[in-house]
Amino acid sequence: MAGDGLAVTVKFFAGFREAAGKEQEKVDGVADVGSLLEELVRKFGKKMLMQLYEPGTRKLLGTTHILVNGRSINLLEGLKTPLKDGDVVAIFPPVAGGGSLTTEELERYKRQIIIKGFGEEGQEKLKDAHALVAGLGGLGCPACEYLVAAGVGHLTILDAERVELSNLNRQILHWQLDVGRSKAGSAIEKLWAMNPMTKIDSRLEMITRENVDDLIKDADIVLDGMDNYPTRYILNEACVRNRIPFIHGAVEGLVGQLATILPGEGPCLRCIIPKEPPPKPSFPVLGTTPGVIGCLQAMEAIKLIVGIGRLLVGRMLFFNGEAMSFDIIETRRNKNCPVCKGV
Ligand SMILES: [Zn+2]
Repeated sequence: MAGDGLAVTVKFFAGFREAAGKEQEKVDGVADVGSLLEELVRKFGKKMLMQLYEPGTRKLLGTTHILVNGRSINLLEGLKTPLKDGDVVAIFPPVAGGGSLTTEELERYKRQIIIKGFGEEGQEKLKDAHALVAGLGGLGCPACEYLVAAGVGHLTILDAERVELSNLNRQILHWQLDVGRSKAGSAIEKLWAMNPMTKIDSRLEMITRENVDDLIKDADIVLDGMDNYPTRYILNEACVRNRIPFIHGAVEGLVGQLATILPGEGPCLRCIIPKEPPPKPSFPVLGTTPGVIGCLQAMEAIKLIVGIGRLLVGRMLFFNGEAMSFDIIETRRNKNCPVCKGV
């Protein structure tokens, strides 16, 4: 083995730091992430074992984040991700389910915790919340960024597409070097770098009537990052059916709209927009327009989760960037709505 030894630097965060009793460790002679973890268990014992794996298994605890040279192993080859001399491996702990906030979290979120009515309790609600963003385009990118920055505990992103050059004027989680890769992979990498305490997972599937219930069923809230009405209607119906709040957003050119749908408590998307507008395969968008609306979608989601402010339920907001105006109209439930009647 002489001469074949591989030296990898492992950086520990939070609970792993406690289990190891140090901030980092050099490890020799490991060929992949799986054998590195075994070596860490051998060196640091039961505490490390319990931090890493589900009890009695070698299955990583679902929310453990392992990064090799800054990239999640979920985007590489998982536990089989090869390691070479000089690699840096970072290990972050699972998101704690509920309970009190860590010192680091209190520091990270202190400027929002001091908002009237928000408090540590609001931050804990965010930490316990599971948001789903459908679509990682112009709306989904800023919505995800603000949800993760605010400390939503669990984010699921849905997108089956790959990054194209013509996306980059507005889909701000995707950068020049990402052209050609999956939007989900591109987004998760940046979001984890932004806030490793959020658990993020993705489903690389097109939304259909058949799979939509399965895709959204575990979410506490769904954000509409779609660019077409047929899929929005499918999401709206599934959210009403499953009683999941749905934050609708849509943009074109310099104008956008926003509405919050609380099933049973206000109109659904089909009540507000009964007929599908004519489909447009390629429509103009200035990136700042979905920047405004996607950000406001995240704001509605955060307000709803934390329980502050007045939601856009029974109201629709219209943003016109050309005139620089915001208008709100009242909206009503349709008694005979084919989607939400009787809910
Ligand atoms: Zn309705």
